[in-house]
Amino acid sequence: MAGPRKLIAGNWKMNILAAEGQALAGAVGNYAASAGPLDCDLLVCPPATILHAVAEQLSDSPVAVGGQNCHAEPSGAFTGEISAAMLADVGATAVILGHSERRHGLGETDAMVQAKVSAVLNANLIAIVCIGETEAERDAGQTLAVLRNQLDGSLPSAASTEGMEELTEVNTVVAYEPVWAIGTGRTPTEAEIAVAHNHIRACLEKRIGSAADQIRLLYGGSMKPDNAASILLIDNVDGGLIGGASLNADDFCAIAAAAVS
Ligand code: PEP
Repeated sequence: MAGPRKLIAGNWKMNILAAEGQALAGAVGNYAASAGPLDCDLLVCPPATILHAVAEQLSDSPVAVGGQNCHAEPSGAFTGEISAAMLADVGATAVILGHSERRHGLGETDAMVQAKVSAVLNANLIAIVCIGETEAERDAGQTLAVLRNQLDGSLPSAASTEGMEELTEVNTVVAYEPVWAIGTGRTPTEAEIAVAHNHIRACLEKRIGSAADQIRLLYGGSMKPDNAASILLIDNVDGGLIGGASLNADDFCAIAAAAVS
C-alpha cells in the first residue's frame, strides 16, 4: 500500500509580527497556487496572535493553518491560555503538541501532552504530537525506549478516548524531533532517522493495527532545502516539521518542492 501523502509543516514559533506574517503567508500561498498540483500537504503554524489573520489570508489556498500549543481544558479560568476550540474558531485545523521546547523548556510532561492531545481530538482538530530524545539519551543508547515511552504516555489511552474519536490516521500525526537536532544545524544520519521512524511505526501498529500505516510520521530537526530531498525519501518519513527554515518562504517552499508522495 502506498504511504500517506506527505505533509510539510512550518512551526514559526515565537517569531513574526503581523506584517511579516502577512508577507510570509502570502509567499507560501502564492507558491501553493502557482506550483501546479502539489505533491504534499502544506501547513503553517504561526503564533496565536496572528493565526486568525493568516488563516483568513490563506482561506482560499491549499495551505492549512495550525496552532503551536493549546490548553487541555475547553474553557475556564486559565488566564493567558488558549483552548483547542478557540484555535479551531479562528481557522486552525491542526495543533502542534509536546514540542521539545515545551517539554524541556517549560516542563511539559507526557501526561500533560496526552491531555492536550485529547482536547485537540475532541475539538476535531489534527494533533501533531512531537517526540524525541535528548543527546544524552541518544548517547546512552536509550533513543528507542524514550520514543516508545513518549508515544505511550502522550497519546490518549483507550480509556481517555471514550466518547471521543479514537486515535486514527486522519486525526493524528507524529513528529520525530531529536532534541539535539532542533535549531542546531545537526541531523541524525539517514540510517538513524530510518531506525527511529520504523520503530515509531511499529509502536503505532501494536496499538491500532494496520491503520497505523497511514499515520503521518514527520521528521523535524534542522531540515533545510539542501537535506530535505534525501530525508523525505527515507522509508516511513511522511513529511517534515520545519522550524527555522519555515521563516523563509523560499526555503520552506523549496522543502515542499522536495516532497514527493
Ligand atoms: C522545530 O522546532 O520543530 C524544528 C524542527 O526546528 P528547526 O527546523 O529550526 O530545527
